[in-house]
Amino acid sequence: MSAKKALITGISGQDGSYLTKLLLDKGYRVFGLVRRSVDRSLKNLEDMGVVDKIEYADGDLTDECSVMKAVKSIRPDEVYNLGAQSFVGTSWDNPILTTEVNALGPLKLLNALRYFHPTARYYQASTSEMFGNSHDKGLQTEQTPFHPRSPYAISKLYGHWITINFRESFGMFAVSGILFNHESPLRGPEFVTRKITMGVAKIKHGLANEILLGNLDSKRDWGFAGDYVEAMWLMLQQKEPKDFLISTGETHSVREFLELAFKRVGITDWEKHVKIDPKFMRPADVFALHGHSASAGKELGWKPKVSFEKLVEMMVDADLKRVENSARADRVVEAII
Ligand code: NDP
Ligand code: GDP
Repeated sequence: MSAKKALITGISGQDGSYLTKLLLDKGYRVFGLVRRSVDRSLKNLEDMGVVDKIEYADGDLTDECSVMKAVKSIRPDEVYNLGAQSFVGTSWDNPILTTEVNALGPLKLLNALRYFHPTARYYQASTSEMFGNSHDKGLQTEQTPFHPRSPYAISKLYGHWITINFRESFGMFAVSGILFNHESPLRGPEFVTRKITMGVAKIKHGLANEILLGNLDSKRDWGFAGDYVEAMWLMLQQKEPKDFLISTGETHSVREFLELAFKRVGITDWEKHVKIDPKFMRPADVFALHGHSASAGKELGWKPKVSFEKLVEMMVDADLKRVENSARADRVVEAII
């Protein structure tokens, strides 16, 4: 029997890199939709040791032709739509781009599958941000009403519903994973976890003295990306298409993340190194996310393996190594965030 084919959009990102490794290990042929850029940076895929094992297709989720061409020529068994303008903060500055990629992108991909390859199984990367501040006794479940609080979350809500709509309208195997925040050493540097672990590593090595942050009381249900891509795969192996919520079931504040990250390098008076900068306060924040992923446990047999403490340690250790190896790229990142 020939190997199964998986098409991944957003393959160069954090989740794309972990998912590629997982699928290659399972014997899949992995195809990646990648955008043209000046340096074609596929750093995450290099770090994961998979960059040469992927079959690449030129494309962009905003370009319908390229999406159709990829679907028609690859005829994938499984499609993982991870491509997105994924940063909430940027979505207020670039709301139209965010909507074009995150809302119309899934529509273009689903339409291409509907007309050219309707038997493919489709995964949509939905997000806990769609809940906003809505909760049921402090928890978000599959039944919690959505109340998105950013252009990012609103665009993702469209992607979520259009996936359900194609399933209900055309009988396609199209599912949506409502994933809570998940992190790793490959997390983008603008997200609060990575910003903290990079800052801590630099402070430890005397290359910086402080980290500028926004709302320290904000709480997230943070898991490990490597665990979460397994849940994506499991969703596409089920008999019936169904949406699932994926979370660790624990919630922690930014403050707690800071405390653990600084503790890892032996700094206990961490408050001295953290300054609040109003620039990093959100126009409308999501204050607390805490997921209840019982159905994923029961029906997918999925549970997270990496604890919050281990996740923080893993990220700090990786950034310490990066700083030790070289301080080079950090100057560029600092200019951005
Ligand atoms: P990343 O930001 O690490 O990766 C985003 C990917 O999308 C990159 O590969 C990027 O490519 C690609 N991309 C951006 N714009 C386009 C476009 N116009 N056409 C094609 N590809 C594009 O995100 P993550 O890996 O963290 O997240 C994966 C998905 O899961 C995203 O959809 C995100 O919104 C969603 N999600 C993530 C969560 C998390 O906590 N990580 C939680 C819930 C949902 P390039 O290299 O060219 O920029
Ligand atoms: P998000 O949940 O996808 O928005 O992930 P982020 O990592 O970007 O933000 C998580 C939470 O951390 C949000 O409530 C932010 O308001 C809060 N936060 C506090 N300071 C910062 C900061 O400097 N940068 C970012 N990105 N978030 C911050």
